[in-house]
Amino acid sequence: MKQHTLLVLGSGAAGCTAAIYAARAGIKTTLIRGNQPGGQLTITTDVENYPGFAEAVQGPWLMEQMEAQAKHCGVEVVADHIMAADLTAKTLTGMNGTVYSADALIIATGASAKWLGLESEKTYNGKGVSACATCDGAFYRNRNVAVIGGGNSALEEALYLANIAKHVTLIHRRDSFRGEKVLQNRVLNHEKISVIWNSAVDEILGDPHPITGGVTGLRLKSTTDGTLSELPVHGVFIAIGHQPNTSLFKGQLDMDETGYLTRLPGTVLPTHMGQPLPGVYVAGDVADSIYRQAVTAAGMGCMAALDANRYLESL
Ligand code: NAP
Repeated sequence: MKQHTLLVLGSGAAGCTAAIYAARAGIKTTLIRGNQPGGQLTITTDVENYPGFAEAVQGPWLMEQMEAQAKHCGVEVVADHIMAADLTAKTLTGMNGTVYSADALIIATGASAKWLGLESEKTYNGKGVSACATCDGAFYRNRNVAVIGGGNSALEEALYLANIAKHVTLIHRRDSFRGEKVLQNRVLNHEKISVIWNSAVDEILGDPHPITGGVTGLRLKSTTDGTLSELPVHGVFIAIGHQPNTSLFKGQLDMDETGYLTRLPGTVLPTHMGQPLPGVYVAGDVADSIYRQAVTAAGMGCMAALDANRYLESL
């Protein structure tokens, strides 16, 4: 068992910002990185809306800088993934059984990519099915690929892949995107991207051979009249949103119907049966189903650190 003053769980924009503010307030702060160090920004490319950079910066670079800044402020960064949490005792158990105990805890575990839920998606995962163009796009140089979704992630994935692939088909279940206008315009005007509207993936088609096999196409179903069609592609990138990483806290913290942690309005205080837990704070996408931006996550990280500082001073 290792005793800590403040533990920050998660190393995305929320966790890093919380750690930076806490360390600068003189709190001995330990940040546990989790199994996706740097969080969702590490699987995006150009970041154009994080204030302070006139030119686009790369998501992975931005997160390296945030972690380096936290270390520079005196934060101890631990490479571990938490398997169990007891929020009443404020203890966390890591992958190899290390138990971290703390006076205060900031939960910033973020959110992970959602999948369509098709059996074929599992069969071909890593063999043509991916949820990260920046990780896997290079495998599809001069090949045809599809991107599923209509939000910012899907638009960004399509634009990224258009620089590599022969052609990108964006498949969306409705007749309009929900992503930002500026990205929509880039996608709709891109000569290597076409859009299939009002269609959902009915099945991912492929060759199941364990060595030579992989995705060969998609069977699409019209969401307006149910007609089926096929699209030959070698890769399919699923970009249909995210789900919060809250399974550790089931039964210990209140959640909304989609699993996001709920908090007292206007605060970073999560609740259990409507009541806040002393010394436990939340920040970022894990408790924000509405804004889900790097900058809002960072803002919540700052709020959580300031609240934790007040709590620790009161002990
Ligand atoms: P999102 O905004 O929730 O969009 C998800 C998209 O996937 C929607 O178009 C949705 O369709 C579609 N979808 C959901 N489930 C589906 C299913 N089972 N089958 C087919 N399509 C499905 O998610 P996101 O694009 O990942 O973005 C998440 C948040 O991060 C947003 O707030 C976004 O603004 C932010 N973000 C920002 C940037 C940036 O600022 N550069 C980049 C990436 C993400 P419907 O439209 O029909 O619901």
